[in-house]
Amino acid sequence: MQEHLDVWQEIKTQLSLSYEEESYKETIDAIDSIFKVKNNYIYLIVENDFVKKRIELVYLKKMNRLLENYVSEPFQYRLITQEQAESELSDQKHYSPVKPEETFGKSGFGTNLNVGYTFENFVVGNSNRLAYTSAIKIADQPGIVANPLYIFGDVGLGKTHLMQCVGNYILESDINKKVLYIKADQFVEEYVRLASKRKFDEFHSRFREIDVLLVDDIQFLAKKEKSQQEFFKLFELLFNQQKQIVITSDRSANDLKDIMSRLTSRFLWGVTVDINRPDLDHRIRILEKKMMAETSDKDLIPHKVIEYIASVFDNNVRELEGALKRVLFYCTAFDYEFTVKNAEIALESLVKPKKNNKDYLKSKINNILSIVSDYFNISTSDLVSKKRTRNYLYPRQIAMYLIKNLFDLPYKKIGGYFSNRDHSTVMHSVEKITNEMNTNKNIQIDVEKLSIKCGEN
Ligand code: ADP
Ligand code: MG
Repeated sequence: MQEHLDVWQEIKTQLSLSYEEESYKETIDAIDSIFKVKNNYIYLIVENDFVKKRIELVYLKKMNRLLENYVSEPFQYRLITQEQAESELSDQKHYSPVKPEETFGKSGFGTNLNVGYTFENFVVGNSNRLAYTSAIKIADQPGIVANPLYIFGDVGLGKTHLMQCVGNYILESDINKKVLYIKADQFVEEYVRLASKRKFDEFHSRFREIDVLLVDDIQFLAKKEKSQQEFFKLFELLFNQQKQIVITSDRSANDLKDIMSRLTSRFLWGVTVDINRPDLDHRIRILEKKMMAETSDKDLIPHKVIEYIASVFDNNVRELEGALKRVLFYCTAFDYEFTVKNAEIALESLVKPKKNNKDYLKSKINNILSIVSDYFNISTSDLVSKKRTRNYLYPRQIAMYLIKNLFDLPYKKIGGYFSNRDHSTVMHSVEKITNEMNTNKNIQIDVEKLSIKCGEN
């Protein structure tokens, strides 16, 4: 039974990658027990009839197709509601469905890796080529070529994916390697949990044995000094034994805030690579790849529709992927043709609130730039220039802050409106205003007034 549960967990992971998040969460995510295995049918317990029907309509075929990859006999999934299961068991007193073992933190070594993240399905382009080649190299020779590998970039651009590729790849060639993927905030939680029980030994022994340590979103160690100290010790220990360490972050190591410098300086010992936003051609290739994974039919959606999706969602691969899933779901569920028009309808609710239509966004931002320059009595061209006098500097920082808050664009993209300023300049400006607003009433007033003006337009 445990075997079937393990397989089910893996299939769940794959399903979560293939379907729209909301729908997946409402249906598949909660299933974690098997009622019985009989006549080659594996009965999964679902909450109620509604969920059962949804899964039967949308997911079951795919579930059974995925299952074929794991079993030699012709097993198939069937669903049974909690209620049905209980009534079938009414004469049996002690019924407890089999639950999967927790992978991390109990006996046995859990990796926390998502098997769906492989190099094979990572699409390479200019924006991520260096990151990709560095990751492959360290996966080939862990601990030797570059240690640590530090990957940074905006959200949704594939950092977690790439980092996990490294882990999966290493495990593929040596199943005995102890690979651990952990988010920095999980590390903190784990530390706090065990420290409060004074179980330092347990904490140390859990991490000491690791061969490959993958720490995601290191910026979340900020301000957690004790955890940083522990992490520092762990880093030193593993590093000195040439164990591979990979770190991701939303910013470069130099830009990390509230993390002790002896730690951030260690991050610079190895190799740092960044991931940027993919260009149009790259986005199209990503969509084609995702479509193959999803449907095994790369021609299912006409190229024009793919192009349309790729042109609208240019910020972030996660959103791009979500858009594709939504179009697939919409057209399949209602049996509509895959046309640009139908894609537009399917994506309407995503496109509008994101205000991501290029012309719309551009005109909105230009509007903000002129409101801010009016307010400070300077010209818009000075506002967006690189001139560093105080007269321009402060209004510019405010403008960057407002754009970030109103549109939540990547820093780099905002920089594009200011004579191509880089990611970190914009980030510093936004953070400066954010911090100073707390202490400086005048700044707060400027921001409030301008937010109202910009919001009205
Ligand atoms: P990040 O960690 O940078 O926020 P993720 O690694 O979680 O981003 O990526 C978000 C989604 O986009 C994931 O589903 C991932 O598989 C996908 N993705 C990102 N970059 C690529 C790529 N180059 N090729 C294929 N899929 C990608
Ligand atoms: Mg991530």
